[in-house]
Amino acid sequence: MQELTLILDAAAFAAERHRDQRRKDLEASPYINHPLALARVLACEGGVEDATVIAAALLHDTVEDTQTTCEELQARFGAAVAGIVAEVTDDKALDKVERKRLQIVKAAGKTREAKLVKLADKICNLRDIAASPPVDWSEQRKRDYFDWANSVVAGLRGASPVLEAAFDRAYDLRPGVSAGA
Ligand code: NDP
Ligand code: ZN
Repeated sequence: MQELTLILDAAAFAAERHRDQRRKDLEASPYINHPLALARVLACEGGVEDATVIAAALLHDTVEDTQTTCEELQARFGAAVAGIVAEVTDDKALDKVERKRLQIVKAAGKTREAKLVKLADKICNLRDIAASPPVDWSEQRKRDYFDWANSVVAGLRGASPVLEAAFDRAYDLRPGVSAGA
């Protein structure tokens, strides 16, 4: 598949699958803005030119958060894209605490492509929590999320120094830390 076709088809597919979902911020932003933000971070900040990684970023929450299956992604977008999405998808049979623990434990064993998508996901979610957090999250809950994300990213380091630096700048936005401190 041509690279631009792959990317645009992935964006359209994700928009359709997330069509009835919103982010958790006060304004209930369109869900698709989040996968688009990952793709932008990878391409514009991370210098990622691999269309397979960009497409996987656009699709990264479709299996976890919609009825989409990895088999369906494989048929439409190929095994490489589907494989990256599978790597960044939590096992929903497990409870949330265990899923969060496994993200930390398994991060270092992921492929470089999956690490790039996970790095972008954590960067985007920290930026969102700093700028437009889920409604009704306490400062402590935000801090807990920042620290958990930092533990996951510890296992991703080495994949992309430029994205790791972007993550570190996002981490510096955590509640309770004043700029320049
Ligand atoms: P959640 O997993 O419930 O929510 C965070 C996730 O929501 C993000 O990873 C992101 O996932 C998505 N999201 C949607 N909108 C936004 C937004 N505007 N900003 C940031 N993220 C957004 O939260 P936790 O990880 O904190 O909770 C997990 C566990 O902790 C649960 O078991 C929960 O019950 C428990 N918990 C923790 C508390 C605490 O104080 N730490 C308090 C109460 C419960 P994605 O990118 O996949 O869309
Ligand atoms: Zn995500």
